[in-house]
Amino acid sequence: MEEEQKIWQAALGELELTLSRANFTTWFKNTFISGHEHDTIIVGVPNTFTKAWLEKKYHSSILKALQKITDNKIRAIVYRVEAKAKIDELSGTDQLPEEKLTLTIEPTETPALNEFGLNPRYNFTNFVIGKANELAHAASLAVVQKPGEVYNPLFIYGGVGLGKTHLIQAVGNQILKNNSGRRVLYVSCEKFANDFIKSISTNRAERFKEIYRSVDVLLIDDVQFLSGKEGTQEAFFHTFNDLHQANKQVVMTSDRPPKSIPGVENRLVSRFEWGMIADISTPDLETRAAILRAKCREKNYPLDHEIITYLAANIQNNIRELEGALNKIIAHHQLYGNIPALENVKKLLASLTTVQRKRSVTPKQIINLVAEFYDLKLDDLLGSCRKKSFSLPRQIIMFLMREELKISYPTIGQEVGNRDHTTAMHAHLKIAREIDEDEKINQDIKLIKEKLYN
Ligand code: ADP
Ligand code: MG
Repeated sequence: MEEEQKIWQAALGELELTLSRANFTTWFKNTFISGHEHDTIIVGVPNTFTKAWLEKKYHSSILKALQKITDNKIRAIVYRVEAKAKIDELSGTDQLPEEKLTLTIEPTETPALNEFGLNPRYNFTNFVIGKANELAHAASLAVVQKPGEVYNPLFIYGGVGLGKTHLIQAVGNQILKNNSGRRVLYVSCEKFANDFIKSISTNRAERFKEIYRSVDVLLIDDVQFLSGKEGTQEAFFHTFNDLHQANKQVVMTSDRPPKSIPGVENRLVSRFEWGMIADISTPDLETRAAILRAKCREKNYPLDHEIITYLAANIQNNIRELEGALNKIIAHHQLYGNIPALENVKKLLASLTTVQRKRSVTPKQIINLVAEFYDLKLDDLLGSCRKKSFSLPRQIIMFLMREELKISYPTIGQEVGNRDHTTAMHAHLKIAREIDEDEKINQDIKLIKEKLYN
């Protein structure tokens, strides 16, 4: 049984790398292996909806992952709705802490979140500093030393998997460690929104206020989530004002700078910009290698210099992915009892190489992602309105299709609301020029690309 769970963990590790985080969480949380017969494995799922979805959409990826891990021993999968998963679901495991989503090697690595919402694993000691994050790191340290006094708020932004959550949680952990008696609360913006909505629907608005305004340090992760959520923005606005006026520290993270978050009121954007804004960009090769070495030390798993260099050179955009690769190697080791040689590592990680990922991106994905990014309806985005708020994202779509998918202008025109090929050509030219001239457009496109390949 334990062996089965290990295999499932390894398969999840594999799948996680090819799916978006949201998809992965939605469809794979609360799944487990409930048994097997001969060459058929039985996957327990929490409900029929998940069952149908896994069967329809992910079956072949799941089977492939399982076969890869078991040397093709598994031939079939049966999905079954099972009580164990159901109980988990009902008992309100609303949101898994991030760690549970990544492949867990040792039980000790699934830390419980403490009462402040913090995961003690994220601290300053194990945060590797490089050019890409030194400003954000220094600002965070300054906040730890003088909460509420120097940079308030501190706003940290950067792409997926680059250490924002690690850093903001390190701030909380360190302030607690300093024993100043300050009350710290870490929440994802999503949790903030849920708490707020729940408090309204259960007539406990006062309690919500009490909780969020009684803290000395409020750490709120992924505030881009406020996009388009007016009620929650209002709640956040008042919470922020009260805390700020009382010189309480607020730290926020986001996947993009304040001005680039669509559908957020100006009064909030301007508050985001009141204090200090620090970005985290993609780490250089040296930093990536240093982070890997740090992770190896943490996991007590020495890895060849050669393999570290290979990983650092080939996984460039995302530290979470870098860690995922390491976990994969460790899982392989645990299953087969030998450290994979570089050749095997290469095979093991083939699914991660950019070339393969690029091939799997479709025009529809680009359209959906851009719609999501700018918070636009597809009809507007693909329609004929020439307002800049529609036309610019539309042009970015055409630019990305050309640059990333290398498809022809006529095809691009067709995909984007049946437009003429000259429109696609013009859009490509225009954005290519603006990327050099307009920092915001440049930044937006970088982010969209990151999302596309993550
Ligand atoms: P984000 O919140 O920006 O998406 P995370 O903070 O979740 O990213 O980071 C992803 C993973 O990468 C985490 O396991 C984190 O510990 C690790 N990580 C990111 N940056 C660093 C760093 N500078 N040093 C060590 N680990 C890092
Ligand atoms: Mg994060």
